[in-house]
Amino acid sequence: MRQLKIAIAGAGIAGLTAARALQTFGFRPIVYEQAASLGEVGAGLTVSPNATHVLNALGMEGVLERLGMRPNRGGVKHWQTGELMVEISRGNEMLEKYGAAYYQIHRADLHRELADLVVTTDPDAIRPGHAFRSVEEHNGALTIHFENGTTASADVLIGADGVRSRVRAALFGEQTPRFTGYVAYRGLVPMANLPDGVVDPTSCLSTGPGRSFTRYLVRGGTLVNFVGLTERDDWREEGWSIRATVEEMLREYEGWYEDVRTIIRSAPPEGLFKWALFDREPLPNWTRGAVTLIGDAAHPMLPFLGQGAAMGIEDGMVIGRAFSAADSIGEALRRYQEARLPRANWVMLESRKTALNYHSGREENFRPGKHVSAESLGLMSYNPAAVPV
Ligand SMILES: Cc1cc2nc3c(=O)[nH]c(=O)nc-3n(C[C@H](O)[C@H](O)[C@H](O)COP(=O)(O)OP(=O)(O)OC[C@H]3O[C@@H](n4cnc5c(N)ncnc54)[C@H](O)[C@@H]3O)c2cc1C
Repeated sequence: MRQLKIAIAGAGIAGLTAARALQTFGFRPIVYEQAASLGEVGAGLTVSPNATHVLNALGMEGVLERLGMRPNRGGVKHWQTGELMVEISRGNEMLEKYGAAYYQIHRADLHRELADLVVTTDPDAIRPGHAFRSVEEHNGALTIHFENGTTASADVLIGADGVRSRVRAALFGEQTPRFTGYVAYRGLVPMANLPDGVVDPTSCLSTGPGRSFTRYLVRGGTLVNFVGLTERDDWREEGWSIRATVEEMLREYEGWYEDVRTIIRSAPPEGLFKWALFDREPLPNWTRGAVTLIGDAAHPMLPFLGQGAAMGIEDGMVIGRAFSAADSIGEALRRYQEARLPRANWVMLESRKTALNYHSGREENFRPGKHVSAESLGLMSYNPAAVPV
């Protein structure tokens, strides 16, 4: 099994975690990435204890401590008054309760460090400039075709190519995603540009009718990461690099308490982005032959529970363990899917429900003991390095 040629399409968080996990178990996976180079993109991500277990086990504990933020206090505020309706503690309690900490980190920092770890183990492990186009199987061997005209042979292909996965389309056909009516704005504001007291508590969700606004610190507390989730129907485009303007976002947050508007107003114009949120239906199966899916390619989800990256990280560890424990490709992929599919699909559906809850404008949803979150749903007590596979 250790001699298997395992190809991974997509060097995002899920693909790189899978590569690192497979390396840890003695495999030599090759990751094919469409981008010409792995650059700095994205903003903040949540790494909750269920994902921290994985990154710790893969040698990333020091990275999380160095580059991630552990918010001590968090909370939920009222959209109009700014009243703190729910207080949440995310400090040492997380470590005590779950055996792993809760971090908020810039996606680019986590991504870069994971990639460095993978190429330190095998300098040839990541091949940029290789966009997956198609795959064919002949007598148990896979031939992968890339958009640059080259091919690669492999025994297994793991599709980790994100929300618009070509591998998923190759396996199960093109599916038309449904526009959810939600549009997300995201930005990063230097803390130094903000007046004192605006970022208190350091991690905060504010909710109101048809809107929410989440913000937290990244990069040693020097940057405030925010994501504003709104509802509109006059614009719909899916992508991570579509510019938005401060004026349009302020219009969306008309009538909101001043701290939210101050943060929006302080966003550097070149650093404000928007994307429309599309939804895919959960798949009943992720695998065909020796090809399977992980991360957003398998289970893209709305961001309301902050579990998109965590689910991809969980997949990465479990697929590594499945290959380590199995005697054949079929057995490895079966073990992986059985361990992961029910949980990931459930989180997809809970993320949809949470969207309705957060935007309901019903204050009774945001009282102590009533607030729905990844923690209240029990998601954080899962340890992918230890669950049965
Ligand atoms: C550029 C970018 C910025 C993001 N920014 C944020 C953010 O700020 N906050 C947040 O919460 N989430 C962000 N995300 C999403 C978040 O990273 C994912 O939801 C989550 O981490 C799951 O990761 P994934 O590896 O499954 O998918 P992704 O992170 O989307 O990674 C997929 C990878 O596959 C590559 N790829 C796509 N098509 C092909 C192909 N045909 N062949 C080969 N490679 C391919 C992509 O270039 C990418 O590197 C971002 C994703 C991307 C791609």
